[in-house]
Amino acid sequence: VKISEIGEFGLIAHLKELVGPPADGEIWIGDDTAVLRAPAGTILFTSDLLIEGIHFDLDLIKPEDLGYKSIAVNVSDVAAMGGTARRALVGMGLSGEVEVEWIDRFYAGMRECCDDFGLAIVGGDLSRSDKLIISVSMLGNPAGRLFVQRKGARVGDVVAVTGTLGASAAGHLLLKASATEPEALIKAHVRPAPRAKEAAVLRRFIPTAMIDVSDGFAADVGHICEASEVGVLLDASALPLADLTGLGLSSGALQLALSGGEDYELCFTISPDRFEAAAAAVLEQTGTSVSRVGEIVDKGRGRVLLIEGDEEPLLAAGWDHLRV
Ligand SMILES: [Mg+2]
Repeated sequence: VKISEIGEFGLIAHLKELVGPPADGEIWIGDDTAVLRAPAGTILFTSDLLIEGIHFDLDLIKPEDLGYKSIAVNVSDVAAMGGTARRALVGMGLSGEVEVEWIDRFYAGMRECCDDFGLAIVGGDLSRSDKLIISVSMLGNPAGRLFVQRKGARVGDVVAVTGTLGASAAGHLLLKASATEPEALIKAHVRPAPRAKEAAVLRRFIPTAMIDVSDGFAADVGHICEASEVGVLLDASALPLADLTGLGLSSGALQLALSGGEDYELCFTISPDRFEAAAAAVLEQTGTSVSRVGEIVDKGRGRVLLIEGDEEPLLAAGWDHLRV
């Protein structure tokens, strides 16, 4: 069955089934707005726009994975503020030729991510569009009044990152070459695991600045430096590179780690006397490793990458969507 056969209102009624029944005291899909119960104080609010041909290629990603990823990238942004994602609105532009079965699989993926991280889709909007467009807006709760900004890194702070870097970009290259293995690398690209649980542990150790790695590690560290008005000294040999040996990819592990993007790891800065305890707690409570990869230095020192004893400028050759 195609969407054009059931129409917008038929599809909305169908989506209401797919997102499940509303939480107590709330109204989700079906009225002019959703009604949500809010905690006192501040909220976190973000959105992410995904456009076919720019952010994803329908030949390379299954609808379940695309759904999962659409939610996951927003969960990651909320986690990067030290918060917990709670409610999402999903806007979609789609062609009438899309099969309802595709929507079912896409929503199943979104639901799976919502269930993994304890949140819900409460509404959204639909429009006809030649290309598939997905816009997810996410509300989250900070931990009390605490949230972690990109600014706040201080000279002498440790620079650290969770997990591994470059796996998602490697997975993307593999998919474009029609490879189906290694599964872990492909999964890193099509079904990223946002570091929400890790953020919940980390925030107790008061990171001074934090960002999720979406544009590419070099670019994202650069965002922290920019906002905090500091420089950075990164040690290339300390970066947690994805293992790409024997894959014959056109880009090396270091290059993909620095500029590949879409890793959705957390990059943070923290006082050196708290780093070891924070890293140990994250590993113990989530199973995710945390690597110490450099230190914050004076702004005048610049952004420097140490490679085998040589100092090179840290170039933010990551994703800049508005630059050609
Ligand atoms: Mg972000």
